[in-house]
Amino acid sequence: MPIQSINPYTLEILTSFDEMTEQQVEAAIAIAHETYQTWKFASYEERAKVLNKVASLFKAKKTELAKLITTEMGKLIKQAEYEVDYAINIFEYYAKNGEAFLADEVLKVETGEAFIRKSPIGVLLGVEPWNFPFYQVARFAAPNIMIGNTILLKHASNVPQCAKAIEDIFKEANAPAGLYTNLFMPGSKISTLLDDVRIQGASLTGSEKAGASLAEAAGKNIKKSVLELGGSDPFIVLEDADIERATTLAIYGRTVNNGQSCVASKRFIVVEEVAEEFLSKFTAKMSALKLGDPMDTETQLGPLSSEEALNAILKQVEKAVSQGAKIETGGKKADLKGNFIQPTIISNITPEMDLYKEELFGPVASFYVVKNEEEAIKVANATEFGLGGSIFSKNIERAKKIANKIDSGMIYINHPTKSSTDLPFGGTKRSGYGRELSALGIDEFVNKKLIRVISENEKL
Ligand code: NAP
Repeated sequence: MPIQSINPYTLEILTSFDEMTEQQVEAAIAIAHETYQTWKFASYEERAKVLNKVASLFKAKKTELAKLITTEMGKLIKQAEYEVDYAINIFEYYAKNGEAFLADEVLKVETGEAFIRKSPIGVLLGVEPWNFPFYQVARFAAPNIMIGNTILLKHASNVPQCAKAIEDIFKEANAPAGLYTNLFMPGSKISTLLDDVRIQGASLTGSEKAGASLAEAAGKNIKKSVLELGGSDPFIVLEDADIERATTLAIYGRTVNNGQSCVASKRFIVVEEVAEEFLSKFTAKMSALKLGDPMDTETQLGPLSSEEALNAILKQVEKAVSQGAKIETGGKKADLKGNFIQPTIISNITPEMDLYKEELFGPVASFYVVKNEEEAIKVANATEFGLGGSIFSKNIERAKKIANKIDSGMIYINHPTKSSTDLPFGGTKRSGYGRELSALGIDEFVNKKLIRVISENEKL
């Protein structure tokens, strides 16, 4: 099957690529493994030089790379430009701080010496999603290249041009062949690669189904895995919150990346005292969003990434309505050629409905009214996901106490969850395990090797 690049706004097929043959995949693994034998002994300076060169090429190509994102998956062009900058920042961050993050850790012993040396482990397989085609790859590849591992990267099939652009940049940066190799393969064939002894670990960002498949293969082969999966982040609004600000941030939280972010705010949980005010402001702002061409800087909401994604979310909305939920605004396919859904808010959702447990990957908000703080915490935790979440209150100490009671990997107070290079990113429960970014993100695929020196004077 050819791997197609389709513009989700115009629905035009832009280009397509052939799936790699078995021989090509074998050659990719072989070169990644061969390069690892020397890259693992390369100096930090040499590794940082490659990352900095990659960053400078991203800078030089920023406009063209941002356009690629927008034409392949529909992100608004300004957000695409921001994503390219963010990827640059990640490459530079690990080039600058990697050596310090990986420094020996001296352990206290009575005689002789003991320390932990962080060593690379080998060829890694990265499986990445389409929603942030450059940022997701940067946050996996940069720290691991700095450690001394080599990378095989299987990108989502709907962003093949972005996938190829990254590999081309590594080539142009004069990185050793095999340091970073793109795999044009369908997701269904990826997990079996972990049976290969030359591949030592895998990281996947994507759905639970894909994550479970990869982790199963890693577990069977006793290999390390990191999973960054879906989320259904709560957005809790307490009675003492600034409602005007909270509703503006609710729009940002639910519609950034056209609603297709793992840490988008998905469940709006508002205490009854301010629920009416919140809902009326939120509805007014949501229904006023300007839909259209993601290349146009005036557009506020672009198309979903694919026709399948659009159909899936429309089906979730229809089912919720058939089970008794109420549409406050939107709910239908928008009257535009591309994969557009109207910005939507759904209320009257009960625990018996499927939507109560599901992730909504698009600009569709679930709205819940709760009596008080305790009930807000209960609804926030009534999900199998545990990625991010946010709490809106003027009382920071109160919000911090609530944050302590929410089962998720990240909680932001007075802002939807977001990602920063120097802060850890990751989840708990069915949202996955392991962390990316910050000093924690460079610690996942390392061998924390103990080196112990016994003093010759020690009694035998
Ligand atoms: P997806 O279908 O799981 O795709 C993600 C990647 O996994 C793609 O490269 C895909 O390849 C591959 N894949 C598919 N089936 C696979 C399998 N059986 N074994 C191994 N790999 C497989 O994800 P999606 O639905 O497009 O992306 C949205 C999901 O990702 C959402 O749930 C979202 O919340 C989550 N996400 C999480 C984070 C995070 O940091 N936690 C960030 C972004 C997105 P193909 O394209 O070839 O199928």
